[in-house]
Amino acid sequence: MRWLKKILKGLNNSTLNERFPRAGDGPTRYPVIKTESNNSSPDERTRTDDEDLDHAMALSLADKDAGRPNGFQGRQDDDDDLSRAIRESLNPPAYPPYPPRQFLPTRYKICGACHREIGHGHYLSCMGTFWHPQCFRCYACGLQICEKEFSLSGTRQYHRICYKELYHPRCDVCLNFIPTNREGLIEYRAHPFWHQKYCPSHEHDGTPRCCSCERMESRKAKYISLGDGRSLCLECLDSAIMDTGDCQPLYHGIRDYYEGMNMKIDQQIPMLLVERQALNEAMEGEKDGHRHMPETRGLCLSEEQTISSILKKPRIGSHRGLLGMKTQQQKLVRRCEVTAILILYGLPRLLTGAILAHELMHGWLRLKGFRNLSPEVEEGICQVLSHMWLESEVIPGTSMPSTSAAGAASSSSSHPKKAGKSDTEKKLGEFFMHQIMHDTSPAYGGGFRAANAAVGKYGLRWTLEHIRHTGRFPL
Ligand SMILES: [Zn+2]
Ligand SMILES: [Zn+2]
Ligand SMILES: [Zn+2]
Ligand SMILES: [Zn+2]
Ligand SMILES: [Zn+2]
Repeated sequence: MRWLKKILKGLNNSTLNERFPRAGDGPTRYPVIKTESNNSSPDERTRTDDEDLDHAMALSLADKDAGRPNGFQGRQDDDDDLSRAIRESLNPPAYPPYPPRQFLPTRYKICGACHREIGHGHYLSCMGTFWHPQCFRCYACGLQICEKEFSLSGTRQYHRICYKELYHPRCDVCLNFIPTNREGLIEYRAHPFWHQKYCPSHEHDGTPRCCSCERMESRKAKYISLGDGRSLCLECLDSAIMDTGDCQPLYHGIRDYYEGMNMKIDQQIPMLLVERQALNEAMEGEKDGHRHMPETRGLCLSEEQTISSILKKPRIGSHRGLLGMKTQQQKLVRRCEVTAILILYGLPRLLTGAILAHELMHGWLRLKGFRNLSPEVEEGICQVLSHMWLESEVIPGTSMPSTSAAGAASSSSSHPKKAGKSDTEKKLGEFFMHQIMHDTSPAYGGGFRAANAAVGKYGLRWTLEHIRHTGRFPL
């Protein structure tokens, strides 16, 4: 799985409305313009643009007690109109309210916000213009900026804290602002599908990650522990399939799906839901199983083995752990090329189904006499079936490519949880499809992409015929 390492760039004019600039832009420091109090007399100061931009000198209201001439010293009135009216009555402008700037003697200064003359009171000089102190306001909260330091984004000024709230990303895990790294840049990790972003430290601080959807546990919602080192988020738990009986309707639905594509699986292949350890042991017992990194979640057995399957689903105890699971030892006897299909328990319905569809395709290939396929071809075509089934569940209006009668049978016999599938479950389904499409392994990812291209071009039936005769995908 590819994990994106993102570094947040500082904002400039072009990225003002883009909270998280695209990766690939060069890093910039988080822009904070420092302002200092101006010790020279306001009227003596002659302005140059460069000076203003480089030094952004501001005469802060904090200096209002410094004894400079200021007719409105100490005024805290937020009402612009009122203060302006008072000022105008005391200091009537010598020129019309909006005179062209170039005709003004240099001692007259026009406020960059209200465009009125700045009299003999305090003023600020920064960002290349002059301001009434009360006109220098934060673009986020609209309140006056009195602090000596403020933040600048393009030509807009903000309180530092307002700017941070607006533009500094928060961690979706610990909910704090994502800290800056040693270079002073905001660095975070982001999941490529969910866009969950978090401090890099959570990858090593024991924060649980959902074994199904890969999202990290947030401080807002605790995950449950499946007791075998896996954690499950509450959204995945919502449709999780916990025991063999629970899984039967789904299994029958997917067999119907195969039948609907004229790929009926004649043998009644036993299907068992198993714990992680049982699955890994069974994997060891197989002569030529393909191990799916990072974890095996399903297996199509060819050897005779004794398997411990989950007979009764566990319930969630206190401390978010599972209790009371019942397992049963089962000796699996081989009656045909395929002994059984094993599926890891505790995964959401759509993921369980995707794994089942994949393993059933292994079964179908073996029962139909496909032999000695390369991992890329075999896993690739199995992933295509898995992806097709997911698509039929997630995208409205997609049903199986073939006959309609079996399609009706499939929907009527499907799991009750299928009815009224929530948006959350659909989004999960889209994630599982995304995972299949973007898998980086040569067999599962590369194989899927090659198989999918062939099926898209020649159809499933012809692609399978080609594989049967050549062991390869048609090009
Ligand atoms: Zn003003
Ligand atoms: Zn503000
Ligand atoms: Zn964090
Ligand atoms: Zn999850
Ligand atoms: Zn496989």
